[in-house]
Amino acid sequence: MTANLLKTYQIQISGRVQGVGFRPFIFNLAVRFYLKGFVSNDEKGVVVFIQGEDKGQIEEFIGQIDLLKPRSSEVHSLTVSEIPTEEIFEKFFIKPTPENLSVDIPLTPDLAVCPDCEKEIFDKNNRRYFYPFTTCTQCGPRYALTEKFPFERENTSLSRFKMCPDCLQEYQTPPDARFHSQTNTCPECGITMKLTDSGGEILSEANQEIFALLAEELLQGKIVAVKNTSGYLLLCDATNAEAVRELRRRKNRPTKPFAVMFPTLEQMSEHLQVEDFHIREFLSPEAPVNIIKIKNSKDLAVTEISPDMDTIGAMFPYSGMLKLIAHTFAKPLIATSANVHGSPICSTEKEAITALRNIADLYLHHTLEIIHPQDDSVIKFSEKYHQKIILRRARGYAPNLFFSDELDKKNPDGKKILCLGADLKNTFTAVPNDHCYISEYIGDLAHYGVYLRCEETIRSYQKIFSFIPEIIVSDRHPLYESSTLIQQLAVENSLVKEYKIQHHEAHFAAILGEHRLWDGSEPVLGVIWDGIGYASEKEIRGGEFFIHQDKSISHIAQLEGFTWILGDKMSRMPKISALSLSENDEYLKPFFSDNEWKIYTRLIARKAIKTSSMGRVFDAVSFILGYKHPNYFEGEAALQLERLALRAYKEPDIKFTDYLHGVDFNKEIPVKKLIKTILAESQTQPAETVALNFHYTLIKTIEKIANRAKIRSIAFSGGVFQNSVLVDLAHQLLKPDFKLYFHEKLSPNDENISFGQLNYYLNIKTT
Ligand SMILES: [Zn+2]
Ligand SMILES: [Zn+2]
Repeated sequence: MTANLLKTYQIQISGRVQGVGFRPFIFNLAVRFYLKGFVSNDEKGVVVFIQGEDKGQIEEFIGQIDLLKPRSSEVHSLTVSEIPTEEIFEKFFIKPTPENLSVDIPLTPDLAVCPDCEKEIFDKNNRRYFYPFTTCTQCGPRYALTEKFPFERENTSLSRFKMCPDCLQEYQTPPDARFHSQTNTCPECGITMKLTDSGGEILSEANQEIFALLAEELLQGKIVAVKNTSGYLLLCDATNAEAVRELRRRKNRPTKPFAVMFPTLEQMSEHLQVEDFHIREFLSPEAPVNIIKIKNSKDLAVTEISPDMDTIGAMFPYSGMLKLIAHTFAKPLIATSANVHGSPICSTEKEAITALRNIADLYLHHTLEIIHPQDDSVIKFSEKYHQKIILRRARGYAPNLFFSDELDKKNPDGKKILCLGADLKNTFTAVPNDHCYISEYIGDLAHYGVYLRCEETIRSYQKIFSFIPEIIVSDRHPLYESSTLIQQLAVENSLVKEYKIQHHEAHFAAILGEHRLWDGSEPVLGVIWDGIGYASEKEIRGGEFFIHQDKSISHIAQLEGFTWILGDKMSRMPKISALSLSENDEYLKPFFSDNEWKIYTRLIARKAIKTSSMGRVFDAVSFILGYKHPNYFEGEAALQLERLALRAYKEPDIKFTDYLHGVDFNKEIPVKKLIKTILAESQTQPAETVALNFHYTLIKTIEKIANRAKIRSIAFSGGVFQNSVLVDLAHQLLKPDFKLYFHEKLSPNDENISFGQLNYYLNIKTT
C-alpha cells in the first residue's frame, strides 16, 4: 500500500450511539469492507477514522452505516471529511474512550431483552440457561446502571463485577454479539440472586430452583417482591381473586388498576383485544405497558385487577428476569411497582424489606445495584383513530434527548438550565450541554420519598454531566415543593437566576416545542385543559385557550369561573364539583349530609376562590351521570366518564347534540349552563348518550373558538387529553378543517411541564 493513494476519512456520528452496540457494529462493517482505521467514543458521540484506496468502497461503507445501524441507535448527524494521511493503520480496531471526556451526548435508556438473548436463557445447552441478566450490545439495562458517561463498564454499577475468561473472550472477539458489550456477565462471573421469605431466611440461591420455587409460591396465592433491572415489582397470580384482593388490601389501593404480565402474546390475545400496533409496542426496545380492552376475561380476576373498567394494563415481559418468571409460571401475573402508596419504587434490598414488610410474602433479591430506578412506561391508543397517548413516560423512553438541534440557536451562550416541572407527576428537564434531557416520571413531590428521589436524580445528572445550573425555571405556584429544591440548588451557585412560569403557559409551550411550532409564522390555538394550575391567590386555572404567534402567547378564553372550596378535597370528591358547578342545585341534596349541605352551599355562595378547572367539570359530569364515589386515584371519575362515552361512541349512526348550541359566549365558556343542561338531560336520556354529547360539546366549543379567531392550527395539552374519546372526536370533527397537534413523545399530563418551562424560557423568557 502506498501512502499517496491512501485516503483517510474522519466520520463523526452523533445521536444515540453509545451503549447501543455502535462501535462493534462499525468494527464489523469496516472489517467486511477491508478498511483499516479505528472507531472510538468522543464527546460528540462516535468518531470513525478509515483508510482505504478505493473511494467507492469507502462511500459504500458510509452508506451502509445508516442502513444497517443497531436497532436501538438513532443517528442525528453523520459528517464525513477527508483528512491528510499522517499515520498508516495496519488493521481496524476499537480505540478505548479517552479519559475525562466532557460528554455531550444522549443518555441511552434501558432496552428490552433482545430475541437472541431470550433464546439463550431458554436453551438448556447454553451457558446462560436461566441466567436473567443475559444481555448483549443490543439489549439490557443502560440508564438504570449509568453512574457516569460515556457508557463504559467502569462507569456503570456493573464495574463491581469482573468478567470471567469466557465472558472476556466474547467481549474481545468480533463478530460475537457480546463483542464490546459493556453489560456482559454470565452465571460464572455475574450477578447472583437469592429468594428469601419475609423474615429474610434464604430459600434458594440457585437460578433454576429459584424460579421453580417462585412459581410454586405464586400458585399458592403468595405476593412476591422481585428485584427487576429497573426496580422492585410486586407479583401475584392474576387469576387468583383472593390474592389480588389481598394485594389491594396490603397496598392500601382500593381501585387503581394493576398491570397484568402475560407470558405470551397468544395468551394476551385470548384475554384482550390485542391489535398489531400493540404488538409492535410490546416487541419494541421500550416495551411499555399498553392499556387494552378486555375481550374475554376467562380466568382473570378482572373485578379485582381493574374494578369497573373494561380495560387492563397489559405488560409483556421485557427483561430476562420477567421472561423467566412469566415462562415458569405460565399464567398471567399482576406486576406492579413495589412501593408504599405514593412513594417511589424501591430499588435496594434494604428499602424493599423495610417498605414492603407488610406487603410481600417473599423476596427475590439480586446483587446488581440500580442507580436510576424507574417505573414502567404506560401508553394507550385511542379507540377509533389509534392516536398513541403516553400516560407515563419512564423506563425505555426516558431520558432520551429532545430537540437538541434547536438548542444551539435558542441557547447560544450555552447556559446550563434546569427546569423543575410540576409537583404532581413531576419530571425535570436539564440542559447541561448542547442537549436537552427530560427525566423520567418521578411522582408527586408532596411525598417526601418522591421529593428525595427527585433531588437524588438531579444530583445524579449533575454528576454525570458535571454541571451546576445557572438558570432554574419553575412553576409560579408559591407552595410547590420545587421552591424548596431551588433554594437547595441555589446555595451551590449564588449566581443562579430564577424564572417562574405559569402552569398552563408551560403546557402550551411544551406542545409548541414538541412539534417545533415556535418559529412558524402561523398562529396556533392552544387548548390547555387539566385539573389545577396556579394563576393567582384568587384563581386556579384549568380550562384555558391561548394563541401563539411570533413567540408571543396570549390568553384568549377560558371556562367561566366557578367556586373552588375545601382545597384538595374538591379534587377528591366529584360531588363537590357538581355542587359548585350547578350552583347548589337542589337535585344534589340527597348526596350530602345536612351538615355538609349547610357548610358547602354557604362556601360556594361566598365565591372566595374561582377556578376554571376542566378536570373538575369532568368530575361533576361523571358524578351526575352515575359515578358516586370519591376519586381514589387522580382522574378516576374522568376515566369512568370516558368509558361511559365510549359505549355510545361505538354505536353506529350517532346523532350528536351540542349542549351549547346557539348559546352565545365571548371569552368565558358557559360551563354552569352546560352543567344545568346535563342535569336536565340526565333525567330523560341514557347516561352514555349524555356523556358522549358532553365530549362532543367540548370539541364543538373548540371549533367555535378557533373559527372565531380564524385559526387553522390547534395544539392540545394538559391531562384531560389523556381522554381517548376527546382525542378521537377532535380527529373526527376538526381534522378536515384544522391541523391538529397532540403530544406524541411526551405525556399530555403534568409530566410535560418541565419541558414546557424550558421552551418558554428559551423562546419567551419571563421575570
Ligand atoms: Zn441481546
Ligand atoms: Zn462470565
